[in-house]
Amino acid sequence: MARISNEQILEIRNSVNIVDIISEYIPLVQKGKNFFGICPFHDDHNPSMSVSPEKQIYTCFVCGATGNVFSFIMDYEKVSFLEAVKKVADKLNIDLKIDNFQKPVSQYDNYYDVLNMTNKFYQNNLQTKNGVSAKKYLQDRDINEEIIKEFGIGLSLSGNSAYKFLVENKFKVKDLVELGICNQGDNDYHDVFNNRITFPLYDPFGKVVGFSGRIYKGEDTSKYINSKESPIFHKGLVLYNYHRVKEDVQKEGSLIVVEGFMDVIALSKDGIKNVVATMGTAITKEQAKLIKKASPNIYLMFDGDVAGEKATLNCSEELMKIGLIPKIILLEEKLDPDDYLKKYGVAKLKEKIKNALSFLDYKMIIMKKDYNFQNSNDISEYINKVIVELDKIDDKIVTDYTINKLSDDTKVSKEIIKDLIKKRNKPLIIIKEKEPMINKYQKAYETLLYYMLKYVEVIRAFDENNVFVPAPNYRYLACEILSFYNKYKTIDIADLIAYLEDKSELISALGKINNLDLPETYIKEEIDDYIKLLNEYPVEIMEKKKLEKAYQDALTDEEKIKIANQLLELKKGVNIDD
Ligand SMILES: [Zn+2]
Repeated sequence: MARISNEQILEIRNSVNIVDIISEYIPLVQKGKNFFGICPFHDDHNPSMSVSPEKQIYTCFVCGATGNVFSFIMDYEKVSFLEAVKKVADKLNIDLKIDNFQKPVSQYDNYYDVLNMTNKFYQNNLQTKNGVSAKKYLQDRDINEEIIKEFGIGLSLSGNSAYKFLVENKFKVKDLVELGICNQGDNDYHDVFNNRITFPLYDPFGKVVGFSGRIYKGEDTSKYINSKESPIFHKGLVLYNYHRVKEDVQKEGSLIVVEGFMDVIALSKDGIKNVVATMGTAITKEQAKLIKKASPNIYLMFDGDVAGEKATLNCSEELMKIGLIPKIILLEEKLDPDDYLKKYGVAKLKEKIKNALSFLDYKMIIMKKDYNFQNSNDISEYINKVIVELDKIDDKIVTDYTINKLSDDTKVSKEIIKDLIKKRNKPLIIIKEKEPMINKYQKAYETLLYYMLKYVEVIRAFDENNVFVPAPNYRYLACEILSFYNKYKTIDIADLIAYLEDKSELISALGKINNLDLPETYIKEEIDDYIKLLNEYPVEIMEKKKLEKAYQDALTDEEKIKIANQLLELKKGVNIDD
């Protein structure tokens, strides 16, 4: 079970020409040294993507997408790094036996085996005579044999049958307890899932990591229970159905996020399969990242009640923090997607998806409910709240559209609203005043990195002088360049990208550096000056950067004002002007 080595990956990359591979996906036309094509990673109408046979990388001048042959396949086909390597290897007829090396020799392998076996046990129960009434329950809810198979639905029995079955199969009791399959009682062990219809929960790679169990006999107990958190199950890292949604997301060009897994199943029955569930009313940063990775077009379709409203707002906030603005499907009459389908049918729901609300429109609908537009205080507060939201979106067209809408709704003139927006942005302008001073450092590290990507002498100079790069992502990029150089004693952008594997933030930083419009060759004195400058980077500025970051991350106006004041103080107290 050998893992694939970095050397092997570099060798595979060096054996193909990126131009050949990319032209299998998009038509490329040669212009001078480079090839050009329509960029598949943004809504491109002119050929904005250039592919360099010399550097073996592609880069888009509009959206900044940059990478090597593996990153192209990863992003185009939405596959993992290893899958992309495997695809290129296949083209070269190199047999990588990816199934072997992809399987990590993990200390948790036992856990996965336990859950796999438990899953099979539950699934089998449903097909026996013990499962007759559970199956009837499912059939009454239109969940037929096909759906049962598709979602791996099973049944837990009463007592300790799962415990007994697993122990008979030589699994360790300790593991069963750790995974929340059984608990230790006074004299014996008993199963955690008792008489429940079971739904396996998978991690993003398709491994069973836990279960959700639903009662079906109307017992007086929690309707649903989930496996407890374990070394391999963290609820905040899992989205229901995520592992099998890839193809449908690609087909539909979007991902729908719902709250409950029964909604996923209900929608799937009606052929809407690009759906995942949060299994809760909020999402974690990690879940938001998974969503972003799946698609740039996200629809949130939570329940139409107050809890669903809260979930929609929570989830949107988390997505917007990572630059993703979802569209919202608002279900009337407090219905959840499952009930909505039953009442109105799939055609009506599809229509709703097609006409989904923009986030801001949704937010305005929700906020409007709290205000009386006959009251001037209410109008003022409402407008200010909408402006706060606008600020988060930072899109000129949305701003203009919203100003018109606000003015129509409240009868306040557009000029006044525009004025309010300007005023609100003031503190930001104060902070940005000193930006040129920061820029000189930025220019320094960008230039250094640019030449580090081309000349080993610059890497060595950087290393010897222990240069400090103030911006974290670029600092990490510099570290990676150093470690690549230390390992291979050379520098090559395409190989470096392979070396960075799926560190997409660093690859995009690298793309920005590579796109800089700088001369081919460097001037030694200039490099020395930049190194000197960066090593004199004053602590006050570091402090200032930290505060500015805090300002951007601040959630409330109150916090923002506090930080803005601290920033002003900082400038008064220390002389950091040039
Ligand atoms: Zn692009």
